[in-house]
Amino acid sequence: MKIDGNEITEVLNTRIVIEWAMGNWCNFRCPYCFDEANLGTHKAPEVTPLVQANVTHLVKQIRKHNPNDHIQWTLSGGEPTAQKKFEFLLKTLNDIDDNSHVMLVTNGTRPITWWKNNIHQVEHVILSHHIESKIEHNIELLKLFAEHKTNIAISVMIGAQNFDQAVKDYKILAELTTPKKFTHIKLMINRFRLTSRNDEFNELSKEQHEILNSLQEQYKLNKQIDETSRIFWRSNRIRIKEKLYRKYQTPHIKYTKDNEKIIDEMGWYRGKRNRYEGNWVGYKCYAEGRAMHIRYDGGMGRLPCKVVFFKDVNIFDEDFVNKYKYNNEPYICDKTYIDCNCAGQLEAKKVL
Ligand code: SF4
Ligand code: SF4
Repeated sequence: MKIDGNEITEVLNTRIVIEWAMGNWCNFRCPYCFDEANLGTHKAPEVTPLVQANVTHLVKQIRKHNPNDHIQWTLSGGEPTAQKKFEFLLKTLNDIDDNSHVMLVTNGTRPITWWKNNIHQVEHVILSHHIESKIEHNIELLKLFAEHKTNIAISVMIGAQNFDQAVKDYKILAELTTPKKFTHIKLMINRFRLTSRNDEFNELSKEQHEILNSLQEQYKLNKQIDETSRIFWRSNRIRIKEKLYRKYQTPHIKYTKDNEKIIDEMGWYRGKRNRYEGNWVGYKCYAEGRAMHIRYDGGMGRLPCKVVFFKDVNIFDEDFVNKYKYNNEPYICDKTYIDCNCAGQLEAKKVL
């Protein structure tokens, strides 16, 4: 792979992501939800001593080979907070390893008192505002997140079915989250997608798309950012002790230009994509050990190249500790970017 014609010799990336779909049950019935996310067959798991022992084993396995890399737990569902003792899982994950953090993908419907009691356990929240969401509740929740400087991305789900109401809610949330106090909160629009269960799906009209585009533009223009607060968040909130490991949470690349060794932000998804040419064929790619997935039924798999689930490995089983071994062996990449089904892994650690 080359950038501006210079061969890249390494991708530096110190983040290890464990995506965990905590059940496939949700208290909402959004028509645009993916089947997998809301089949209703598996509630978020009960946090038993066995589950605690198994997640501890998983982290220990990772740590054997990666003493300093940062672990990000991405908890989604269904609705991950649906399990009554969910806070116990948050505490377990935070206690096992202090070089890790939890990112939560949620509809935010637990009562405000629940959030008040547990807000210190989550660093990032991907919050979604749905047809069934209550605007008053989400306003309170966002105020709470702002007080705690929690990093939030909130998406208002908008389709032809709920256009007027959703636009009304978006405008209220835009006004709320524009001032500096809400620096860590980013408001977005998520347009409905066609899914197998969305019988009433209608495309947004051209005019509706234009209204949404202009609302987003306006929000971006008005949004006030407190840079000191952002810098504080980056250097204090996420528990990473080593400066360099913190820096390379954002993927960087190494290359030589005019005999000078350069380390620069990779920026593939931040506007630099056109400067790259080629693919990762022949590189040692460590993506398997950097991107793991736990399915709603506890099955474990790896994401790179394509999602593959390990045979008989389940995080809820008694013999998980005997069956799960972390694989630190790199792949030698043999796929061009076009064939590579690993978009998220493009930025995983690699060495030529
Ligand atoms: S809140 Fe999310 S998981 Fe629940 S039904 Fe809606 S889209 Fe699906
Ligand atoms: S296809 Fe993607 S994930 Fe697989 S080895 Fe190549 S770069 Fe890595």
